Amino acid sequence: MSLKVLKFGGSSVGSAEALRRAAAIVHDELPAGGLVVVSALRGTTDRILDACAAATRGDLPVALALRQAMEDRHHEVATELGLLEAVRPTWNPLFDRLDQLLTGMAMLGEGTARGRDAALAVGETLSANLAAHCFQGSFRDVREVMKTDARFGKARPLLEALRTAAAPWRVALEEGALWVTQGFLGADPDGTTTTLGRGGSDTSATLLGEALGADEVQIWTDVDGVLTADPSLVPEARPIPQMSLGEAEALSAFGAKVLHADSLAPGGRAGFRLVVANTLRPGASRTVILPQPPPRPAGTITSVAYKEGIHLLRFPASAGLEPPLEAARSLEEAGALRFGLISSPAGTLLAVRPETHAAAEVLGTLAASGLACESGWAVVALVGEGLRTDPVAALRYLATLGQEPVGGLLTGSSTVSIAFLVPEARLAEIIPRLHQHCVQER
Ligand code: ADP
Ligand code: ASP
Ligand code: MG
Repeated sequence: MSLKVLKFGGSSVGSAEALRRAAAIVHDELPAGGLVVVSALRGTTDRILDACAAATRGDLPVALALRQAMEDRHHEVATELGLLEAVRPTWNPLFDRLDQLLTGMAMLGEGTARGRDAALAVGETLSANLAAHCFQGSFRDVREVMKTDARFGKARPLLEALRTAAAPWRVALEEGALWVTQGFLGADPDGTTTTLGRGGSDTSATLLGEALGADEVQIWTDVDGVLTADPSLVPEARPIPQMSLGEAEALSAFGAKVLHADSLAPGGRAGFRLVVANTLRPGASRTVILPQPPPRPAGTITSVAYKEGIHLLRFPASAGLEPPLEAARSLEEAGALRFGLISSPAGTLLAVRPETHAAAEVLGTLAASGLACESGWAVVALVGEGLRTDPVAALRYLATLGQEPVGGLLTGSSTVSIAFLVPEARLAEIIPRLHQHCVQER
């Protein structure tokens, strides 16, 4: 029997209307059961994090006001769906728990990553419970199966434990169950709640797809698939009908928010079909991501990606390799994303994005030790299978930037992408220009 996992992002479950649309898709796609992963309602995760920040600085009234606004919004959506009474028994203890967590943070004047993960779980669980009723499925807590390490804020999956725990889920789903579960959350070996990093529900869906031996994972979002560039900077960006896993991996690694950076590896290991589609327009074009690359003419660039907020650490040649390696290790261990670690006889450059409080602290300590540390950079990547056969094409495209300042090339082992550093402030000019010359005019 073919098994599918569907994932709906925050905007796809952000309102009663969106949830109704998602329910229609679930019924079309999963007539004989399957697994649905849903994110927190749009804006909820940010609101909970703001409430935690307010509580941590001792401002409990602000924290509780944010939490109240969140409750009001949830009640509004559930009422519009006629489901408030159905969800109330599960929702009330969740809101109480959030109150307790915020009060605890305010009393201590301290917020740990562990405490924040516990608070964030409330948003995801509220939404999965509501969606389960709305889709006429049953809620199952993802923490039964999503086993992770204890790196709170950016936990890594424990694949073997996940696979073992998912075996009974597979049996039930094959027998026709329709289960709805949370994205983004996991549980460490002690059973304590963890999260997979912002935007991590995509990764929840693909990890579950892998563990369950699914044939297809569908990511339902608010755009017509993976586009040739971020539509907020490039309104004329078009959907990419088919792309290779390598292209999708590079695109997400270099910042395209449509897929979480860790979400492609499970498909690479397990070989399921990965589809990205638009909840607002289910019949519109969509992207199919295939393990084997579709043929592309030499030099073809499929998409442009970027990530702002990059910090550069410059190590003098005299330092050797060990200090930059050690810095990269401790930053990554604290949850930072590494965009480059490049060494030449003239010194070593490390490009990172802190991502977590812990990583920002490590960065602060490194800067305080006298190391040259710059902020205000962005990484830009050109991605396409065409680079495999014509890698030099990327340099020709780079030349189209003319007088724009380029801070350095970030070469890695990827044969389908080339990345470079630009000042963050120039992104709004650079991305449309590259898209026009490298993707659109071809
Ligand atoms: P969800 O809530 O469904 O997870 P996200 O906001 O995380 O949705 O991701 C979808 C958004 O990603 C789109 O609305 C779009 O603004 C942004 N995005 C950035 N780059 C791309 C790209 N190359 N293709 C599609 N969307 C992109
Ligand atoms: N709700 C989480 C976030 O906003 C996870 C996700 O949406 O993927 O980061
Ligand atoms: Mg997302």
